[in-house]
Amino acid sequence: PSSGNGLPNFRRKPVIIIVVGMAGSGKTTLMHRLVCHTHMRNIRGYVMNLDPAVMTLPYAANIDIRDTVKYKEVMKQFNLGPNGGILTSLNLFATKFDEVISVIERRADQLDYVLVDTPGQIEIFTWSASGAIITEAFASTFPTVVAYVVDTPRSEDPTTFMSNMLYACSILYKTKLPLILTFNKVDVAAHQFALEWMEDFETFQAAASSDQSYTSTLTQSLSLVLDEFYNNLKSVGVSAVSGVGMEAFFKTVEASAEEYMETY
Ligand code: GDP
Ligand code: MG
Repeated sequence: PSSGNGLPNFRRKPVIIIVVGMAGSGKTTLMHRLVCHTHMRNIRGYVMNLDPAVMTLPYAANIDIRDTVKYKEVMKQFNLGPNGGILTSLNLFATKFDEVISVIERRADQLDYVLVDTPGQIEIFTWSASGAIITEAFASTFPTVVAYVVDTPRSEDPTTFMSNMLYACSILYKTKLPLILTFNKVDVAAHQFALEWMEDFETFQAAASSDQSYTSTLTQSLSLVLDEFYNNLKSVGVSAVSGVGMEAFFKTVEASAEEYMETY
């Protein structure tokens, strides 16, 4: 039987989409857009918020860390600053994550995707024990992919672009999950330049060498490293604001989920 939305029916479990990216890259706005898209297309989605410090969300979360952990209380109780508060809240939530997995498992037959929003400060999720525990809990139970959100207009400078790609690279090697470079805000700047730089490292080197302040030998070595990294990646251009690229995004998620099934 078809699930009714034209999606292939080869899997019974939902695909987990972990949305990560630098603060301000547009994770939360993109989550909202993806949720709207799933509603419009009768795709059965589940939404999870893992940011304990967010004040208001533009979407309704099915599972929200804020229902379980009160970030402000955690700060007071453990005498922590904002980042320590977020990290400790995430640690507390991670200890109960088997319950979260059970909730999703019980609904697995009725779900196509689980969209996961992560804390504003990327390293709190990607470089913490609890982030690793949560990622591992997902990936050992369901096909799991990482959507790395890039602020496209702010990555037009070659140096910034390279830093961002090196960060994405570190996430790929840390999670060992299929990674989707999600170039967001294409309503402001098209991501064509990024595709060209990723396609041909000499094009990137030429762009970078026009920046006098940059160490050209380091740039050249790193762009070779990244050339190998790009071969293992999928990318898509989206706009959380205009809604461009949503079909392409879910297509890429499907391809990445298949990659997961073959590899893990
Ligand atoms: P987060 O910190 O990664 O969750 O980022 P937010 O979703 O809070 O977005 C940060 C800022 O970028 C907000 O002002 C958004 O309105 C803006 N933004 C997000 N996505 C887009 C987009 O696709 N296009 C434009 N023009 N702005 C966006
Ligand atoms: Mg956010």
